[in-house]
Formats: sequence, C-alpha cells, structure tokens
Amino acid sequence: MDHFLYRNGQLHAEDVPVAEIAAAVGTPFYCYSSATLLRHFRLFDEALAGLDHLVCYAVKANSNQAILTLLAGAGAGMDVVSGGEYARARAAGVPGERIVFSGVGKTRAEMRVALEGGIRQFNVESEPELEALSEIAASLGRVAPIALRVNPDVDARTHAKIATGKSENKFGIPIARAREVYAAAGRLPGIDVVGVDVHIGSQLTELAPFRAAYEKVAELARMLRGDGHDIRRLDLGGGLGIPYTRSNEAPPLPSEYGALIRETVGDLGCEVEIEPGRLIAGNAGILVSRVIYVKSGAERDFLILDAAMNDLVRPSMYDAHHDIVPVVEPEVAVPLLPFDVVGPVCETGDTFARARALPPFAAGDLVAFRSAGAYGAVMASEYNTRPLVPEVMVSGTRWGQVRARPTLDEIIARDNVPDWLPTNESMPD
Ligand SMILES: *Cc1c(COP(=O)(O)O)cnc(C)c1O
Repeated sequence: MDHFLYRNGQLHAEDVPVAEIAAAVGTPFYCYSSATLLRHFRLFDEALAGLDHLVCYAVKANSNQAILTLLAGAGAGMDVVSGGEYARARAAGVPGERIVFSGVGKTRAEMRVALEGGIRQFNVESEPELEALSEIAASLGRVAPIALRVNPDVDARTHAKIATGKSENKFGIPIARAREVYAAAGRLPGIDVVGVDVHIGSQLTELAPFRAAYEKVAELARMLRGDGHDIRRLDLGGGLGIPYTRSNEAPPLPSEYGALIRETVGDLGCEVEIEPGRLIAGNAGILVSRVIYVKSGAERDFLILDAAMNDLVRPSMYDAHHDIVPVVEPEVAVPLLPFDVVGPVCETGDTFARARALPPFAAGDLVAFRSAGAYGAVMASEYNTRPLVPEVMVSGTRWGQVRARPTLDEIIARDNVPDWLPTNESMPD
C-alpha cells in the first residue's frame, strides 16, 4: 500500500495533487510520501517486536537528508556503505551507536572517520580489510566492534547485478573459511568480535533464499560460540523485494520475513539487525515527467518524455519494470495502445518500456513512474548536461522541495577551466 492514489480524477501524493507540484517545481522530479516511508519502517520494526533488534535503513536506497531525518526521528538505525553516507547519517542526527558500516572496500580514511565519530559495528568483508581496521583502531587507541560478512553461497534468485550471496560474487568471506578468519580476528589488537553479518542480494521475492542463508548463519554462530567467541549480534542484511507491478507479484510481507527470522535465529538470544532499503523507500516515491512529443514509429508510437535514463537508470541497467501511469486518471473504457516509452538522451538504452499498453497521451501530459523511491534519485546523473533531478517530500497537505534542481550556471561553474588552457582569443589565427 502507498499514498499515491487518484482522487477526483487526479493523482495525489498523500493530500497534494501531483499536478500542483509539477506546476511549481517543473518536471521531471521525484516525489516522496513521508507517511509511506514511516509505515514501511514501522512494518519492519513491528515484524521484529519481542526480539532485541535494530532496523538499520540502507542509506544507499535513497540518501536524501529529509528521508534520513524522518527515519532517524522514528528510531531507525542506518546501514552505510561509504564515508559520505556515514556523514549524511550523522548530519541527520543518527548517533554513531546506531550506524553499521558495510561495504567491500572501506578505505583507511573512512575507517578513521567512523572510529572517531562513533560506530555500532563494521561489517568486515576480507582479511586485508580486517588487518587495516585493526591497525587504524590500535593507532587511535580505540576498539572496533566487528561482524564478519560471510558469503553463504546461496542463490538469491534475483537479477544478476544485485545478487551478492553466491561464492563467485565479490562480497563477504566464504562461509567455509569463516571460523579461521574469526580466529584471526580474535587475536588482532583493536578488534572486538561482536557478531555475524550476511546480505545475499536485493529485490528477493521469496523467502527460501533468506531461510537457507539464515540457517547457515545460525549454525556458524553456534560453532563460533563453541570456539569461544562472544557472538551477541546477528546482522541479517536487507534485500526483501517489493511489488513493481500491481497485478502479478506478491513478495513476502515484512511480517512473514520477521517470522522467518524468529524461526531461524530467534533461539540464539542475539540482538538482531536488519538492513532494508528498497522496501522502505521504493514504493514511497514516484518520478513525475511530462510528455514532450508523441512520435509515430515504424512499429509503434514513441512516448518521448522529459525524464531520461540519467534520472531513473533502473530500466536500462537492470531491465527493471516500473508501472507508468497518467497523472490525470483515464476513463475506465479508454482503449490502451502499445507505446515505447523513451527519454531524450542520445542512446537507445534510454528506453523505459517497450510496447507498454497505455491510454492515449498528448504532448504536455504528465505521467508518473511508480515504485521509484529506491535506487532512483541516488543513481541519477547529469549525463547530457541534464540538471540533477529535484526531489520533493509530501506530508499530508504539506510539501516541500528536499533537493532543488541546479541551474545551468551552477552546473557549468562546477567545472574549472585552468588558466593555462589556450582560449579562443589567445589562439593563433
Ligand atoms: C544494498 C544493501 C542493502 C539494502 O538492500 P535492499 O535490497 O535495498 O533492502 C542492505 N545491506 C547491504 C550490505 C547492502 O549492500
């Protein structure tokens, strides 16, 4: 469920007509529903009720400062994967003891910043990383709480680019070698082993791969305790999928996911962390765009939008499907036609949908891409010198820009032209 519904024939974001925001901000823009964000966070929090737990929002799904502030206010922890995301979480008021640092290539500088600023735990993904962290922590006279991210060799059965739990993926330490690396960690100065971490991928639409991974984690945790490690925390990662179409997909609910967690690791008495990103932000956001032209093609007509792959890259990058809906509600009986929905960028890859059945459109009409709140704005670029797409947040009848569109002057001024470069005037004729 989300808060983007038609009312009186007009798509609304909570209580605000989307067309009203479009008139004020211009298109394209992202629009987030704060009620949906909070609702999704609370579903996870409730799913783990009774277990000692922390829901760490995966900042990379959508790192807008307003979203982080909203979730931090609701009690969320954060999962960060860079020094930049760590700084964002701190700026949103998240205390260090609620921040988990994940990622396969943390630099020494990032480790230092997190150790000095406060951190709940580092999820360590390799032996060289473990040694670097030990060195930095010891040199600062600090102790780094760590979990090792283990790679359970489980097929998440999701898109290849976002599957992370197979042995051939770059992530984590092979679970078969985990005991050995834990033993090494236990001997290192500046390192406090607190738990086990796993994250097998994103957009998982069934529970079976989670079950397989969590059973392996539980078994490992018991073994490690037997080896003398004080395993008191399990980080079970993120990855629960969302429905991208309204009809045929029904991924498991957070409550079912919570029940699985209880069943697989509940008896260990560990504090449980989860790191959901997509499920919290995905269906809490839409991308609003305007039709520039309707162009007749040899096979079918093209809907040319003012949004492009630089604003929402998921269709080009992951062959992702986003429902596309008109902002003015179409008549029930209107015949649907197949359109190729494309942007203005000079690449054939700049295609959002092929042969999509849609109601008739005219130039100037507004459309909305649903389920665009996660891995949308954060992956946007200024390719083709298209200004970075702005973002809006709605709460009830209130709304505000949470990131403004840069002007072309600002974009151009970000580049620096060295004074030793020959200019037009200094060129010989
Ligand atoms: C990306 C990522 C997540 C979030 O995944 P979602 O599919 O958005 O829930 C959580 N943990 C880690 C380590 C990640 O890399």
